[in-house]
Formats: sequence, structure tokens, C-alpha cells
Amino acid sequence: MTTPSAPADPALVERIAERGESLRRRIAERTDRDVTVVCVTKAHPPAVAAAALAAGFRDLGENYAQELRDKAAPVAEVAEALGSAPVRWHFIGRLQTNKVRLIAPAVSLWESVDRASLASQIAGRAPGAAVLVQLDLAGLPDRGGCPPDEAPELVARCRELGLDVRGLMGVGPPGDPELARPGFRRLVAMADDLGLPERSIGMSADLDVAVDEGATIVRVGSALVGPRPPRT
Ligand SMILES: *Cc1c(COP(=O)(O)O)cnc(C)c1O
Repeated sequence: MTTPSAPADPALVERIAERGESLRRRIAERTDRDVTVVCVTKAHPPAVAAAALAAGFRDLGENYAQELRDKAAPVAEVAEALGSAPVRWHFIGRLQTNKVRLIAPAVSLWESVDRASLASQIAGRAPGAAVLVQLDLAGLPDRGGCPPDEAPELVARCRELGLDVRGLMGVGPPGDPELARPGFRRLVAMADDLGLPERSIGMSADLDVAVDEGATIVRVGSALVGPRPPRT
């Protein structure tokens, strides 16, 4: 056995656990639904993902393929050392088709499927994988997502490819959280129409709005693990 390369720092574990507790209370005050909190550890070192695990999080989110590839093994070692269940990695970032193979063994839920070519690559590398179709809610070029009008067709395509489409994902616009409400509402209505149970909406800034509008998954980074260090 190798020593875990990222031992969990007790002070950090406690801080994340406390924030997680208050976040869960905040969600429970607004809804009776089960809401999965994905702890987004992107741009943080493996030690932060390890601390999130030790604080009780099983669902971790990453945006960058290379980074997830590098983190998966050390974090899996920590999970084993803690005797905890394996991590469920959510891939939530823009993804080039040629990076799918790097992370296919690690990803539990592909949240950012926004085009047929990506769906087809995932279906090839991870047959039957669980996916969300990402909608472009903010109209921002760097956020990814397919135009909402095209989502039903993409959902159908994913199903033809044998993927397990669980729901829809969307990123709200920056600024006032209220600005996210119409897009979240549209996404939830569309998920209802398509018979899809999961709605991954809401981040640190707009999660209250997302929960009120029907989120079943929220993706929370800075409110749990603190500000992201600059990418190197
Ligand atoms: C970074 C990111 C998050 C988490 O953002 P915070 O503001 O730190 O909560 C959630 N979803 C996506 C798609 C992200 O890129």
C-alpha cells in the first residue's frame, strides 16, 4: 500500500463539514426534495478533495479533464484509507471529445453533454454511461450547453446511443441570482416534459433560487471549499 499522497487536514475537514451542514439546513428549509450536493473541487489540490470526502461528501465535481485524471487516483486512495464508499465524480465542464478517454474510467455522471459528437464519444468509451444534457441558459459562449430548442433532439440522440439520460444541467448567468430564475424555470419545465428526473442547477451564488425552482442536484464550490486558487 502506498501512503495516500493527500492526507486530510483536520481543520479543513471541519470547516468543510460545518459549511456542508449549514448548506444542507438551508436547502431543507426550502424544500422536502432530496437534493444532491456536489462539492466542486476544481482548481484545488487533491488534498481539498480528500478533505471533502472526509467531511462526508461522496459527490465531487470537476471541470477540467486533465485535472480530474490527475486527481482520481490519489483521491481514490484516500477514500480507501478512510474506509469510505468510492467517490462519485461529476464532470461539469466543457469537454473536448479527445479528452473523454482520459476520464471515462473515473466519471460517474457526465453533466455537460451538449452535442451529439460528445455523446457519441462517451457512448463509445463508457457504454451506457449516466449523462445529463447541458442547456445553454446564459447565452455565454464560454459556458457550454446546447441551445434549449435543440435539447429534445440531443436527448433522443443520447438515448439512441444507449446512454442513460438522467436529466438536464444548466449554469445561470453571473450577477444577481434572480437573473438565473427564468432559465432555471425553463430547464425544469423541459425536464418535466421529457420525463427526466434530475435537474442540475444552482451554484454557490444562485443555489437558493435553483432549489426553489426545482433543483435535484446543486454544484457548490466556493461556498464549501473556499475561493479557488488561480490555475497554474
Ligand atoms: C465552478 C462551477 C461550479 C461551482 O461554482 P461555485 O461558484 O464555486 O459554487 C458549478 N458548476 C459549474 C459548471 C462550474 O463550472
